[in-house]
Amino acid sequence: MNFLSLVESKREGKALVPEQIQIFIRDFTAGQIPDYQMAAMLMAIYFRGLSTAETAALTLAMRDSGDVLKFPKDPRLLVDKHSTGGIGDKVSLPLAPLLACLGFRVPMISGRGLGITGGTLDKLDSIPGFQTLLPAEKIVAQVQKIGCVICGQTDTMVPADKKIYALRDATGTVPSIPLITASILSKKLTESLDALILDVKFGRAAFMQTQADARKLAQAMVALGNQCGVNTRAILTDMNTPLGRAAGNWLEVKESVGCLEGRTGVAPVSDSKPKNMETGRMPVLRCDDLYSLVLDCAAHLLVQTRKSKSLAAARRQAQDCLNSGAPRQKWDEMLAAQGADLDAFNRKLTLDSTAKVTVEVKSEKSGFVSQCDARIIGEVIRDLGGGRLTKEAGINYDVGVDQIAKPGERVERSGTLCRVHAADSAQSATAVAQLQTAFEISTRKPKPARLICACLC
Ligand code: URA
Repeated sequence: MNFLSLVESKREGKALVPEQIQIFIRDFTAGQIPDYQMAAMLMAIYFRGLSTAETAALTLAMRDSGDVLKFPKDPRLLVDKHSTGGIGDKVSLPLAPLLACLGFRVPMISGRGLGITGGTLDKLDSIPGFQTLLPAEKIVAQVQKIGCVICGQTDTMVPADKKIYALRDATGTVPSIPLITASILSKKLTESLDALILDVKFGRAAFMQTQADARKLAQAMVALGNQCGVNTRAILTDMNTPLGRAAGNWLEVKESVGCLEGRTGVAPVSDSKPKNMETGRMPVLRCDDLYSLVLDCAAHLLVQTRKSKSLAAARRQAQDCLNSGAPRQKWDEMLAAQGADLDAFNRKLTLDSTAKVTVEVKSEKSGFVSQCDARIIGEVIRDLGGGRLTKEAGINYDVGVDQIAKPGERVERSGTLCRVHAADSAQSATAVAQLQTAFEISTRKPKPARLICACLC
């Protein structure tokens, strides 16, 4: 195949046929097309776009560049959720065991964070002993046995995406809707799913800054997912403010356990001293937006798979299941199956902080929180060492921000806007100064922003 002529065709805006796409993905994965030519193709695609048929061919060719998980026949349907990423977005952690308890199989293949957005695998790496890299046979066996797994891609899954994503990252071709669609769906399609819910985020800390762009991406992914035989829906959710009250790897695991335990003990945000609960643990504040989004994702999947007739009934079913405590036990089962030291994990949960220094960020005036900027909070956490600037960089799991005051909440002068967990006092001082700029306090209570702004089927 003359790849250069395909690059020239795309440069001129002509459509490629599926066979040409299959061949160049196969050849690129095998190292037979040089990076500079593939980079030129990616830039041509960035400017000229791909039709629905071309995007489908690219997605399937990428999926077939490596191994696909094969599950035995089973009445339990295979489902998953994918989020385009944000700050404090820990939904996958409580959702996987919840879905398993609702009778699904959940092969949740997840990723690492890059830049300011967190990654599910990084959060899980903060759990003592927990293994995120599992061979395909173990992934299938665990899903069959306990109903859920959260782990990383194996070396032989979607190798084309790994190579292409690295090139896109280095050539300014990441923000292309057909390339994002193919990248995300090629990975999800290796899970052999029956149904998929996509959480496409928009706003200050999202990949897609506007709701209109998020909608375009969601529409492309929903159309393609359904075309590939997976019942796919998307919700568009607001990522101007962090999800929940905690952001940072370990702090998010802790908040997820709070969500699974249904803890509602929201201490007043102006309280400077955390209160002990009967358990002796610090109050991991269950925040309604996290709880609500977990239930909504589960409810959509129940409706998509016809296990429930309406979203309202599905939500009640998911809520009853979460409140039963079974998903909390399933979480422990999943942790144990993936090598976690449960005693060490439970001991770690009792600690108020695992970071060297904790400092509260105080409000300079009384009023209502009218803005809590997720982008600034994400940048602070990345700079504290909780995120990566390059794929290879190490991270500090203990740093982050918690007790975040959310828009609409009242805060008094000297009350707590949030709390910083840092590796040393110099870092925490810089973080406190930056975090002051993340919050706006107004005299009037702002109108609450909607978390889920649309659903696309
Ligand atoms: N996440 C992915 O997996 N791929 C993209 O292209 C963008 C976000």
